[in-house]
Amino acid sequence: MRAKIYRVMVSALVLTGVAMFSCQKAGGLSKGTLDKVKARGKLLAGVKFDFKPFGYLNETGVSEGFDVEVAQYLGQKLGVPVELVKVTSESRIPDLLAGKVDLVIASMTHNLTREAQIDFSTTYFQEGQSLLVRQGGGIKGVKDLDGKTVAAVRGATSGLKLLSFAPRARLLLYDEYPAALKALQRGMVDALTTDRSYCVAAAADNPDLEVAGPAFTVEPYGIGVRENDSRWRDAINLALMQMQLDGTYEKLFKKYFQQAPAFKIEVLPGAGI
Ligand code: GLU
Repeated sequence: MRAKIYRVMVSALVLTGVAMFSCQKAGGLSKGTLDKVKARGKLLAGVKFDFKPFGYLNETGVSEGFDVEVAQYLGQKLGVPVELVKVTSESRIPDLLAGKVDLVIASMTHNLTREAQIDFSTTYFQEGQSLLVRQGGGIKGVKDLDGKTVAAVRGATSGLKLLSFAPRARLLLYDEYPAALKALQRGMVDALTTDRSYCVAAAADNPDLEVAGPAFTVEPYGIGVRENDSRWRDAINLALMQMQLDGTYEKLFKKYFQQAPAFKIEVLPGAGI
């Protein structure tokens, strides 16, 4: 009798072990990104190198920008240094899915199409798409784009969205923003379309260019994370709330946009802060 109970117990333990092992293999008990980042002692943050004022290289080749500083703040809150990894509009989601980065802070609009592939943090910035044109070229807004060529960047929301506002425009896609900007300056396209802050910054840096018209879309930015990684997303959301509460968000906003914040990160009451 005793031997039988013993045998039953042993097989139960073996079965539990097998179940735990397969669960681990399937990802059920595998470590989430929060544990991985802490164990590695480093946060791999995907940021843009070509999109001023969010993520760009300054004159000395150093990464700067609003998104870059949000990444640094997250690292500080998590207690780990940050390695900035270059992503582009097109590579940011594949790079995240391939595990090359732990998160993506890269001027990325949170929308339903992307929601099908990845998860997003709470909105940390609100933007709108606009047009960058050559000074005196006669384009004042989307209504002037019939038969005109417009540059957009691959992987960005901007190209397709433009066509719904200016269906008779001809779209030319570029891999990165500097190439699209050069095409505009050299007269290969009539306009460049992307989020307004980029257009404002590019016009400030290039006196031959100007912003045409107000923003004509709404672009809520979120930090991209892999799906089903809720402890990681919670940790990021908590840090974003702290950023709002401790005044860092306002400081960064003023630094990069030369005005008081036009957006507030949502802080949940009783979020444990
Ligand atoms: N916010 C837009 C997007 O997520 C355009 C800016 C960008 O290319 O990152 O596609």
